[in-house]
Amino acid sequence: MPTGVLLVYIICLIVFASDSAKNNGRAYAEEKLISYDKSVSDKLLYELDAMKTAAEADALRIDDSSDGGKSMPFISELIKGGSAIEGYIAGSDGNAVDASGNKVDVSGEDWYTKAKEGTSGGKSTITEADLMDDEYVITIAAPSSDGNSLAAVRIPADFFKTVPSLSEFDGRTQYLFTDADGVVMCAVGGKGVLKGDNIFDGKILFAGSEPVATTKRNLLGDHSGIAYCSISGEERALVYRPLKLNGWKVMELATGNYIDTEVTNYFAPSKKVYIKIIIALIVFLAYILIMNFIIKMLYEQDQKRLKSKAETDLLTGVLNKISTEQTIQDYLDMVGEKEPGMFLLFDIDNFKKINDTRGHAFGDEVLKAVGTQLPTIYRTTDIVGRLGGDEFCVFLKDIPNENARLHMGEITYNFFRDLKVGEYAKYDVTASIGAAMFPKDGKNFSELYKSADKAVYTAKERGRDRLVFYGE
Ligand code: GH3
Ligand code: MG
Repeated sequence: MPTGVLLVYIICLIVFASDSAKNNGRAYAEEKLISYDKSVSDKLLYELDAMKTAAEADALRIDDSSDGGKSMPFISELIKGGSAIEGYIAGSDGNAVDASGNKVDVSGEDWYTKAKEGTSGGKSTITEADLMDDEYVITIAAPSSDGNSLAAVRIPADFFKTVPSLSEFDGRTQYLFTDADGVVMCAVGGKGVLKGDNIFDGKILFAGSEPVATTKRNLLGDHSGIAYCSISGEERALVYRPLKLNGWKVMELATGNYIDTEVTNYFAPSKKVYIKIIIALIVFLAYILIMNFIIKMLYEQDQKRLKSKAETDLLTGVLNKISTEQTIQDYLDMVGEKEPGMFLLFDIDNFKKINDTRGHAFGDEVLKAVGTQLPTIYRTTDIVGRLGGDEFCVFLKDIPNENARLHMGEITYNFFRDLKVGEYAKYDVTASIGAAMFPKDGKNFSELYKSADKAVYTAKERGRDRLVFYGE
């Protein structure tokens, strides 16, 4: 019982510990995702800033807006490098020259209006993206030192593709660059969301206890976080972080599978320990059970030995008086009168004389010989005992007919005819034997004894060394 309680207690401990290991694993996975999202955001800001610096450097060189793009070496590098698609030096009237030196009028362009407005305070600006042939394009503009012109570089939001390392996490993580409304300006890696999708258009199902409106507010707000969701029934974790620039966000859409793997990895080492503890417990329990079993067996053996010692006649090895009576009576009570049996009572002839002439020790020898040899002529299930002095008795079970009765009588008589005791001068032991049949001559031990005793008396009267059946 106390072992059982201990076992239950330890199992509870393990269950709680494994639960907390799972939670720790999830927290660890989330932390990793959030931290990587921050590094992607920082890198993106750094890249944008570098482009802004390039635009500013070119803006400082503006002295002649008709120099055929010679005033914008850094912007030209960006275009050659593939990050930017267009570069301009534009005057306040919208007359501009592009990176190839062509004169163009950008006064009607939306981006120019925004860039002009943004740089009017004398500062560089990174404007919200506008759509150009299905491409979200960001304009980075820097004012010239006199404030009359500006240098502008037009960069597709797709340059974001070079920012995250796609080998991060399980390779199925998707990285998103979204605008202030949740529109995806660039999606890279993984599967699920496409450029132009709004993350609130229903493709992503936000799960959890919070209402979707709250999730939306969180996602578009000023704080980073993590929202659990699903896409086409597949579990995802959406990690979001504001870029603090035009309301833009950098998001990671990790798969549920990634989180599960992290949890499993986190849990694995402790799982090994738990398995070891459980095996140790089982071995310990088995040890206790085996020891219990052995102790119980030894105790039972001891009890049996004590019982048989208490029941045995020490001189002859057969049952003593009390247990003979008890064993025979128990058997009669058990079988009832339906199974006939035979009770034999033996009294050794002239035993006093044996003692007197050959000594008490020899008398003991005679008793021992009878006690050890008499049971060998019967079945092991028959009951043999010494009732005291030179008096023995046997209860023979299952004597169904006359033949059996006479046969057993003959075997018994022949035993004494052959019994000789002593090393050199052999003594011919004889006995007077009385036989009473169960249930005919007695229905219990004492009735059987009385009848058999009368038969013994008759045998003595008739000259000893014989077997007499009661009533015959
Ligand atoms: P009978 O033929 O009429 O039976 O005569 P008996 O001499 O055998 O007389 P009885 O059966 O009455 O005598 C039993 C004797 O057995 C009496 C006692 O001295 C002796 N005796 C009793 N117990 C022991 C014992 O443990 N060892 C020995 N050596 N003798 C015993
Ligand atoms: Mg006698």
